[in-house]
Amino acid sequence: MQNKLETLIDKHMSSLGATKVSLSSISSEELWQRSGRLEGRDSEFLRLQDRKGAKYLLSPTHEEEITEIVANAVNSYKDLPLRLYQVTRKYRDEARPRQGLLRGREFLMKDLYTFDTTEEQARETYDQVRKAYSAFFDELNLPYLVASADSGSMGGNLSHEYHLASANGEDNIISCKKCDYSTNEELYPGTLGPHELNHAKEANTDINTILTSTPFLSKDKETLFNVVTPRGSGPINTHLLKKLHTQPSIDTTLENAFAVWSALNKKSPDRPRMELQVIDGRLAHLNLSNPTGFTMTHLDLALTVPSETSTCPSCSSPSSLKISKAIEIGHTFHLGTRYSAPLNAQVLSSSNKLAPIAMGCHGIGVSRLLADAASQLMDSKGLNWPVKIAPFTTVVVAAPKAATEEDLARVYDVLAQEERVQQQQITEDGNRGSSSTVLDVTLDDRDRPLGWKLRDADLIGYPFIVVLGKAWKASGKVELQCRRLEVREEVSLEELGARLRELAKEL
Ligand SMILES: [Zn+2]
Repeated sequence: MQNKLETLIDKHMSSLGATKVSLSSISSEELWQRSGRLEGRDSEFLRLQDRKGAKYLLSPTHEEEITEIVANAVNSYKDLPLRLYQVTRKYRDEARPRQGLLRGREFLMKDLYTFDTTEEQARETYDQVRKAYSAFFDELNLPYLVASADSGSMGGNLSHEYHLASANGEDNIISCKKCDYSTNEELYPGTLGPHELNHAKEANTDINTILTSTPFLSKDKETLFNVVTPRGSGPINTHLLKKLHTQPSIDTTLENAFAVWSALNKKSPDRPRMELQVIDGRLAHLNLSNPTGFTMTHLDLALTVPSETSTCPSCSSPSSLKISKAIEIGHTFHLGTRYSAPLNAQVLSSSNKLAPIAMGCHGIGVSRLLADAASQLMDSKGLNWPVKIAPFTTVVVAAPKAATEEDLARVYDVLAQEERVQQQQITEDGNRGSSSTVLDVTLDDRDRPLGWKLRDADLIGYPFIVVLGKAWKASGKVELQCRRLEVREEVSLEELGARLRELAKEL
C-alpha cells in the first residue's frame, strides 16, 4: 500500500516536472541555527551527538538541508525553476505520541521544494502545485477539505492545508455552505455580523445573566486577562486571543489561571500587576463601565470559537458555516525568501543582479494518510481500502468442492491478463494525466474453509472479492463481492474485467 501510494505521488510529482531525491535523516544543528529555527522548537527535535561531540538532529523536515544544497549547485536564473521532492522518514520528539500512525515520533512524508527566480514565478509554481495536489487527492477518492492556513513556524505568507474529515481530528475546519470560504479555525477572524449583534441585543436583560468572564494569564504571569463574552456563546477562541495580545503573550494552556493569579497576589501583594478586561464586540451596546479600575479593551469582533450560526467572513451570510473535525494530510507553503535569504541561496538574474531564490515547500503525510484512510473507511467487518492504494484490488477465493485448482488458475489468469492490458494502457498514456487503475489480483489458496477466507478478505479490506462457489459449479459464473458498494452478483468470466473497471471508478 505504501508503495502504491508512493507511485501515485510520483505520478503527480512528475506532472510538475519534479525530480526525486533522498536527503539524509541526519542534519547538523549549525544549519538550523543559521536559519533561525533551532531555538524555540527545541522540545520537538530528536537531538544527537557524534563521538566528537558535534551536534546533530534527526530532521523533522528538510528546508535547511535542501536550500544549502541548492545554494551550492545553482548560480544563474537559467538553472531555475527547480523542483525537488522526496518520500522519506521524518522525526519529531512528540510530547504525546498518540493514535498510532497519526501522531508518532517517526513518520513518512513526501516533501516537495520549489525554487524560482522571482516571487511572481514562485506564486505561479504555487498554483501549479495546488492543482497537482487536487488531482492527487481526487484520485484517492477520499472526501477531503482544502483550507487556507496559518504558515506557523514555516514562514512565508501563503499556505493551504488539505484535510480528511475525521472524528479523531485535531483541527477544526470552518467552511461556508454559501461560498467557497474554507479555513482552519486558527485563522477565523471572529467576524461580527448584524446577526451576532442583534442576537446579543435581544438577549440583553439582566447584565449578570448575559455575561461570562474567562480568566487567562500572560506567560510572564504579570498580567491577568478577563475575557468577557456573551453567556452561552461558546468557548474562547484562543487562537484569536493569542493573535490579539502578543505583548505580553498569553498562556492559553493554564487551566486555573485565576487561582494562580490570586496565589501570586497573596504572596507578593505590593508588586504591581496588570489586570485587563477584554470585551467581546457583541457586548459593545452594553457600554460596560470600569468599576474596578481595570484597563478595558473593547473589541469589534467575536472572541468565542465560531459556530454554525456565526457570520461567514467572506460572503457575510449568517448561519451558513459548517465546522468539521479533520486531520491534516497535506500542506502547501509559499516560502518566499524565508530560507534562501539566511542560507545565501542566490542566483544571478537576467539583468545580472544577485537575488535570493523564491521558494515553496509542500508536504503530504504518507503514513498519516494511510492511517486515516484506514480508519475512515473501516466498518465492523474490517478495513476498506481505496482502490488506488489497496494491497491488491481483487482477491480470488474458491469453495473447496466447487472448483478445481485449474479452475482457480483460469480465473486468476483472466484477471492477470486484464491487469497487463491496463498496465500497457497506462504506459502508452505516458504515465501522465492517466487516472486509470491497475486492477491487480491475488489468490488465496491457503488450505482453509471458504468462510474463514472470506472473513479474512473482509478484514484485510480488498475492494473486490471474486468467489468460485455454487454459481461456478452450476453455470461457470463467479460471485463478485464489493462490501463498500453493497454489491454481490454473479458475473461471467467474459464480463468480469469490464465490471470490475466500472465499479472501481466509485472506489
Ligand atoms: Zn460564505
